Amino acid sequence: MERSCLYCGNRVIGRIDKKFCSDSCRNTFNNELNQDINNLMRTTHNKLRKNYRILKRIHLNSTHKKKSLHQLISKDFNFDLFTSTYKNKQGKIYYFIYDIGYLKLDQSSFIVVQKKSYL
Ligand SMILES: [Zn+2]
Repeated sequence: MERSCLYCGNRVIGRIDKKFCSDSCRNTFNNELNQDINNLMRTTHNKLRKNYRILKRIHLNSTHKKKSLHQLISKDFNFDLFTSTYKNKQGKIYYFIYDIGYLKLDQSSFIVVQKKSYL
């Protein structure tokens, strides 16, 4: 069965598990793949850092006090990004970005908490 190079599409000759026509195509393919992954990770991490900074600033101002969710929304907080969750005995879920997390109390308010020892 004829196979074609994953990078350039040229015919691949040789071992049955060979995927590229040359070392150069294999290297270029892997470099581009890594670059895409690196870009994705960098972008995601920047968004996480932004979330972290927003929560940290609110946390520094006052802990365990009810806040308006508007404080997060107005700063473009990304609710889809967090690093871990914690479910308490009441089944409520805290969303953490590293050691700082928040818990939605209702449709319009939340509290910020910080883990005492994260590592
Ligand atoms: Zn090739």
